[in-house]
Parts: sequence; C-alpha cells; structure tokens
Amino acid sequence: MAFLAAGFAGFAVGSLTGAPEQASAEESSAAPSPSSPSSAQVTAPSSPAPLPLPADDSYVAALEDPLQDGSETLAEGQSGRSETNLANSDVEILNWVETDDSVFFITIDDGLVASPAVRDLIERYRIPVTAFLTEYAVRNDTDYYETVTAYGGSVQNHTMVHGALNDPATDVEWEICETQDRFEEQFGYRPWMLRPPYGAGPDDPDVLKYAEQCGINRIVLWNVVVTDDNQVEYWDPPIRAGDIVLLHWVDGLEVGLEKILELGRAQGLTPAALEDYI
Ligand SMILES: [Zn+2]
Repeated sequence: MAFLAAGFAGFAVGSLTGAPEQASAEESSAAPSPSSPSSAQVTAPSSPAPLPLPADDSYVAALEDPLQDGSETLAEGQSGRSETNLANSDVEILNWVETDDSVFFITIDDGLVASPAVRDLIERYRIPVTAFLTEYAVRNDTDYYETVTAYGGSVQNHTMVHGALNDPATDVEWEICETQDRFEEQFGYRPWMLRPPYGAGPDDPDVLKYAEQCGINRIVLWNVVVTDDNQVEYWDPPIRAGDIVLLHWVDGLEVGLEKILELGRAQGLTPAALEDYI
C-alpha cells in the first residue's frame, strides 16, 4: 500500500505497514466472533507494539487515491462531520492526531456493558466520547449510547460481530456495510469512522474498499490503551496532545475513565471530540 505525505493541517495519519497484527490491545475484552477466530485473536500481545512516533515524518501520510467507482458519497448531514472532514473525504488511517491544542481523545469500544456509573461520569464532566460499537452488542441500548455520546461525540462503526477484518473467513463487506445500515436505522445517522476489531487489517484492500463504498472515510486506531484492569499502556508516555485513548465498555470502566482524565489533567490536557479534528 502506497502512502503519500499529507500536507494539510489538523491531523496526522499513521503509516501502518506491518502494524495490523501488532495493534491488538483490544483482545483483553474483545467480543468473541461467532465466525472464525483468527490467529491474531489468539496470539496477539496484550499491549500494542509501537507504530511510528508522531515526530516521525513518515507518521504523516495519506492513502493514495483510494476512491473507486461505485463508491458512496458521504453526506454533509452525516452527523458531526467537521469542516476538516468535509474538506477531505478520502479514506485515511490514523492512530494519533497532530494538533497544537491541549487536547486528547476518548474512544470506547464494543458496548458489552452499559454502566449507569459511566453514564453519570460522562454527564457530570460532559466528556466527549467516540463510541466504536459492535452492532450485536448494542441492539437494546440505543438510549444509553445516544446519551453517552451526546457531548460532542458520536456512535461509530466497530462491525457487526467483531470479526477480524484481515481473516479470510470474515465477510468484510457485511461486517462494515451492514453495520452502517443498521446504525443509521438505530441512531439516525450513518457512521463515517471505522475501528477494525483488534486493530486488524486497517489497510487491507477489502477494508479500504468497503469502508469507502459504504460511507466511511476515517479508519481510527489508537496510541494509548486503558486496559480492562485499568492499567495505562502508552507507546510514548506520558499522554500527549493529540493522543487517541482506547477503552472498552466493561465493568469498572468508570475507574479507568477517571484515571485517564486525571493523567490528562496532569499534562494540562482536556478531552476533546475526535469528531472536531478528523
Ligand atoms: Zn473491539
């Protein structure tokens, strides 16, 4: 996969050659796939291997013209798309945001536990949360996920049943595009970000093809993880401006969320809506 330098301000896009199998911190709470688990699900390490650091020029890259015939055009009304996003609809992969603002980004995955304590915390501090939800896990929790993404965040695509998108047995089109259709029905808008389960296959040609065809233009990974037992794993500590933090909707999430907010505060950072930056 070829990458080009991105000349625009506002965000950086990771050059991810070789990264998919390494960026697998999600396994700690990953939902089992009813299709066929890949080796990546079984053997992936519990902490992410480093992708190129933000200071590296190679870190700022964009996919070379991924647009293809038959693609879906992202609608301006697709909820929360920023001016930056509207100005650049090419499909891009990122795991960190280049910004001069003193902000970081909270992303929370899957959707297995809809905890009132977490909802209360998000409402109390009005935390912008980008929720990458797995469709099967959230069918009965529409109100909850609308509430927790009401402070500048949004519900985004984390596939139907959490299949590894680089597994040949996974129906990539169904995992991506069916989720788009169902979330549009369930939440009233079509996602425009995808987080591949386990971080697997973000630059797989089929992933890029179906993402673009079904209205997604940002494939979002991460560079800080709060594990399910609330340990913080960095690729380059401490937490810095533009970092994308991954957590999961699990029991005890409120503890990890408070912890990362405090670590951000200690660095002079506040959580901002990823939606405003990409
Ligand atoms: Zn996940």
